[in-house]
Amino acid sequence: MEFIQPNRLDRGFYQYQQEFEDKALAVLRSGWYVLGHEVSSFEEEFAAWCGSKYCVGVGNGLDALWMAFRVLGIGPGDEVLVQGNTYIASVMGITINGATPIFVEPDEYFQIDTTKLEALITPRTKAILVVHLYGHNAKMDDVVSLCRKYHLRLVEDCAQSHGSAFKGQKSGTFGDIGCFSFYPSKNLGAFGDGGAIITDHEQIAQDMKVLRNYGSEKRYYNKIVGTNSRLDEIQAGLLRVKLRHLDELCEECRELADAYSSHIQNEKLILPKERPDTHSIWHQYVIRCRERDRLIAYLQEKQIGTIIHYPIPPHLSEAYQYLGYQKGSFPITEQFADEVLSIPMYNGMTREEQDRVVDALNAF
Ligand SMILES: *Cc1c(COP(=O)(O)O)cnc(C)c1O
Repeated sequence: MEFIQPNRLDRGFYQYQQEFEDKALAVLRSGWYVLGHEVSSFEEEFAAWCGSKYCVGVGNGLDALWMAFRVLGIGPGDEVLVQGNTYIASVMGITINGATPIFVEPDEYFQIDTTKLEALITPRTKAILVVHLYGHNAKMDDVVSLCRKYHLRLVEDCAQSHGSAFKGQKSGTFGDIGCFSFYPSKNLGAFGDGGAIITDHEQIAQDMKVLRNYGSEKRYYNKIVGTNSRLDEIQAGLLRVKLRHLDELCEECRELADAYSSHIQNEKLILPKERPDTHSIWHQYVIRCRERDRLIAYLQEKQIGTIIHYPIPPHLSEAYQYLGYQKGSFPITEQFADEVLSIPMYNGMTREEQDRVVDALNAF
């Protein structure tokens, strides 16, 4: 029996193999490899696909995040509200700038619990970072009205939510800056590292372009101490190929998720659901189980691999001990870390593979 991996990146490649190979060869033969036609074309096409005015490609998702807060002038002494159950990169995007993350517990959809935000706002609060975790959406109308009321900046971590939507509006377009990762396992994944920000503000886009390229607008004339975080031509070209097919790829994930939701039946498991009025892109299919670790071992024995997203919440990680939190500081976040499990789901997953996962889960 073949082992079913939690993710299969090769399947996504073979779906459009000829197009990817043609593009890679074309870029190799072009003689131009960093910040050229492919990057600027991708930036235009991705901004349009998201429903945003500007896109700026950068080196990866973490860079998109920390550069976003840098451009917004958020740093030492400032607080940023962020959900506790996120990938640690979201938090690093804040702390790299010397700002302080203030953790917020998640709601039943794994997203930032917007009913808990207002009580956490202080005079030091400068921004809210919403992470659209697993491809789902936070209650964005609540977030937007709070940001207006308290004059807060709004940044969205869309590393897992390319194309997800709340009331018809795509994630990344609700606030000042939307940050994306194109790490290979993301829904819009490159064949290496990549990232981008989107924004409707010309000045922010301009500042990001300067920051990503050593602080220079004109070559060798450096206005600020910048960084080197550029999307390269090959990745941008390959992302353009994938972007052409992204709607159908997202639809395929939705169908896989629907099939799981209608066929998995086991009282020991809590299945994920889509918030009303939202469009999830199902970056992961994350179930919850009180006997999670026994379930992992059981599935492994049945030749089915799984991943925990994420076993240690940022506030309990060694990296953030200096923030002074302990076990029990955020009970819901910690409960999710103990119970969540991502089951296999990827573009190109076969019916047989999915049936095997369903049967195994139902027999647990
Ligand atoms: C993947 C991811 C990131 C970081 O992206 P990289 O490109 O790996 O730096 C940030 N936030 C979330 C929620 C992610 O899933």
